[in-house]
Parts: sequence; structure tokens; C-alpha cells
Amino acid sequence: MAYLNDNFLKLQAGYLFPEIGRRVAAFAAANPDKAPNIIRCGIGDVTEPLPMASIEAMHKAVDDQAKAETFHGYGPEQGYAWLREAIAKVSYQERGVQVSADEIYVSDGAKCDTGNILDIFGHNNVIAVPDPVYPVYVDTNVMNGNTGDAREDGSYEGLVYLPCTPENGFVPDVPTQHVDIAYLCFPNNPTGAVANYDQLKKWVDYALANDTILLYDGAYEAFVTDGSTPTSIFAIPGARKCAIEFRSFSKQGGFTGVRCGYIVIPAELTAKDAKGNNVPVSKLWSRRHTTKFNGASYIVQRGAEALFSPEGQAQTRALIDHYLTNAKLLSEACREAGLNVWGGANAPYVWVQTPNGMGSWEFFDKMLEEALVVITPGAGFGAHGEGFFRISAFNSRANVEEVCRRIKALLA
Ligand SMILES: *Cc1c(COP(=O)(O)O)cnc(C)c1O
Repeated sequence: MAYLNDNFLKLQAGYLFPEIGRRVAAFAAANPDKAPNIIRCGIGDVTEPLPMASIEAMHKAVDDQAKAETFHGYGPEQGYAWLREAIAKVSYQERGVQVSADEIYVSDGAKCDTGNILDIFGHNNVIAVPDPVYPVYVDTNVMNGNTGDAREDGSYEGLVYLPCTPENGFVPDVPTQHVDIAYLCFPNNPTGAVANYDQLKKWVDYALANDTILLYDGAYEAFVTDGSTPTSIFAIPGARKCAIEFRSFSKQGGFTGVRCGYIVIPAELTAKDAKGNNVPVSKLWSRRHTTKFNGASYIVQRGAEALFSPEGQAQTRALIDHYLTNAKLLSEACREAGLNVWGGANAPYVWVQTPNGMGSWEFFDKMLEEALVVITPGAGFGAHGEGFFRISAFNSRANVEEVCRRIKALLA
């Protein structure tokens, strides 16, 4: 007899995006004449081609594999040094943030990393998650047995939820109790909120005082363009003693289908073993990574490296600017339609309050049926997302302009 990990059976059946897919498919099947005009602003996937510098580097890397002299087999599990050095230099050191190449672990994406990191932590931690939140943090804790059962509203026993509300600008306050691990994500998915220096410093001070480890998801850092918002948790003094940072090339370089990300674990970061000794977190992650992962593809790492060349940087900037302009247009249209709007600056997501207190799934159906626009209902990201919806700015300009017209017409 083989037994299953019963923790998986605690997971809520209707995961957000399958449910959206089901409703869109049902509407399209019942309305074949309207189906071709549906515009999807739901799932946060990029739409535009990759920077050409990256494409050229990957073509060249494929050719490298055709000749014995330039062929690459298994690479270092941690990632090629040339990629880690480029990341450390351009993404951190040139911005005055201390991170060295040997603190960086290259992977096939931040989704896997944010889930896999739980392998190295014990099951007796008190874990805090923002609400609303990127569902991966919660579901991977459920799978790992770090929670109790699901409640009626979709939340889980045993997790500490940090409400993100209009009152705190969707930047969660530090917990009023002790927690061992806390997830943070800025610029935020789904709310588009960014945390300023003082807000992050409060979190770092809390973490240092409470021996908390911050799991900081910076997947959208490249969208920060205002010059004052920190792009890394390590820009805050003391963060090297209390934080792990997750990064991805998915949204920055359009790599959602190419797959490459990385994680930064500072040398100083420690956590306790069962005997109460402080052990470097990087030691366990390195052991895990080299045992369960055989490195990101050589071709993909060459593509990622090219994003740091001067041409790659300029092309990445243009790609990000395209999405940021979309976000600005969508925010303006929602405001003109009389809605309350957050996010949409330094982030590719616009977070909007539903009109007249409508439920977020109710408004999802209305947008789909009457405007032929797919949005993401806030309730899918947590109980505090109820009454809000997310519009993704990952789209072509023509689609975004059309969505703006339709929102204004719908609510006129
Ligand atoms: C898109 C996204 C990621 C990136 O995931 P990849 O696996 O690198 O594609 C990570 N965190 C959040 C919050 C995201 O929205």
C-alpha cells in the first residue's frame, strides 16, 4: 500500500485560474459570435517578444552546442559564474547594494524557488502571508504540512494573515505577534503596491528583533522606475541578516516561456537547528539545490546574461516601459470611469475597487459578459481581495486602448 501526502488533499479544489478559464470557456461556447472579441487581462503572462540581445545570445548558444570545442553539458548547479557575476554587478553592486556572485543561485524560475525554499525550513515555524497574496506561497505551505485545514473563506488554519487594505495602502503592517517567517512581495502581485524605504525598514527592524526570516519576492523589481523606491530588500541596512530575495527574468525580460530566475541568500543569514545552534541558511539551500536541481539550461543562461549588456539593458527598459504605459492608461481609464484605483505605477498591475460594493466574482462576470474583458477577481487572491479586481497590463497597446474604451463605456 502506498500512502499519499494528505496535505495535498487540504488544498482548495477551485484554483483561481482554472475557474477563470472555465467561466470564459463557458461564455465563449454559449456566445460564439462574441468569443473572438474577448480580451484577456487576467493571467499575469507577458505578451511581447523577448529583447533582441537575448534572442541573439540564445541563437549563438545553440550553435555552441553544435561543435565539440564550444559544447556545454551539465553546468554548475548554482548557475554559470558569468551570469551570477553579471547579476551581482548590474542588479546590485552598481545600485549600491552589497550582494556577491557566490550568494546567488540561478534556477528555472521564481515560482519553483518560492515553493522549494520550504524544503530547508522546519515544520514548527509560525508563518505570515499577506492577504491578498500570490497563491503559490500559501499553497506550497499547505502541501508542506505547515497549515491546518481550509476555512470557509478559503484561508487556512495555522497561517498568520496580514491584511492589505486601502488603509495601509496594501503594504501590510508588521505582525502584532511573533512570526518566524514572513512573505513579502514588492512591487506586489496582485495589488501593484510598492513599499517605500521606511516601510521596508520597519519590516527589517521587526525581523531583526524577532529572529524572523523575510522571504522577499522581487519578481517585479524591474518595474520600479521612480528612483526612490528600493528595488531590493538588501538596500535596507540589516536585511542581509534576515532576508532571502527571489528574482525572475520572467517579467523583466519576457522569460515566462524561457524559464530563468534566481535567489539571493546572504552569507550572514542563519537559522536555528533543533539544538538551537545558528546554521547558515545558504549551507542547506546549496545542499538542496545541488541535490535536487541540475542547473538551468546553458542556452537560457546565455539569454539571461545578454539582458545585462548595454543593448540588453536598453531593450529591457523599452519592454518594461511598454507595460508601464499600459498600466498608466488602464489606471486612468478606471479613474475616469469613477472607480477607486491603486497600483499601476512602478508595477504592471492595476488594483481596482468594484463599483457599488459588487462582489469580485460578480464583477468578473459583468466585465466578461458586457465588456468582453477578462479580469482577475480579487477574492481569488485571499479573503481581503474580495471587493477588488486586478487588471494586468501585460498586453499589446491596441488591446489596452480597447479595454480602456470598454471600461469607460460599461460604467458610463
Ligand atoms: C510571475 C511571478 C513570479 C515569477 O515566476 P517565474 O516562475 O519566475 O516565472 C514570481 N512571483 C510572483 C509574485 C509572480 O507574479
